[in-house]
Amino acid sequence: MRDQLQTSLKVRYPELFELQEETFPIKRWGIEVGDGWYLIIDAILSIAHWRVRQGEGPLTLSDCKEKCDTLRISFRGNVDDRLRGAADAALEISARTCERCGRLGERRKHRAVTLCNNCASDDECKHADRSSP
Ligand SMILES: [Zn+2]
Repeated sequence: MRDQLQTSLKVRYPELFELQEETFPIKRWGIEVGDGWYLIIDAILSIAHWRVRQGEGPLTLSDCKEKCDTLRISFRGNVDDRLRGAADAALEISARTCERCGRLGERRKHRAVTLCNNCASDDECKHADRSSP
């Protein structure tokens, strides 16, 4: 994800990025997904932020990555079933959202990515350009 988008999340939900241990993947590699999933991540962080503000914390974002074509978000701290359910919902929504542009997408298992038709055809063109002599 572009630095500008990651920074906007850190500014809006600073407590979720505080006190991160060096071993947390989010500390080492940042948010490791495409910009198209920004709104999904924003929604989940908003839920976690609301819980912290209600005194249900502490919570820290520990990992945010793509795995098996879908978004995986994990937290450390007072993680309850509601937050786990929200992270599961994010996974399901990401399986239908283009990771690159955020439009309606589908999992492209042969390329291990979730893309809309436009981004998938762009990829096909780039791949064809690379393989041509
Ligand atoms: Zn797309």
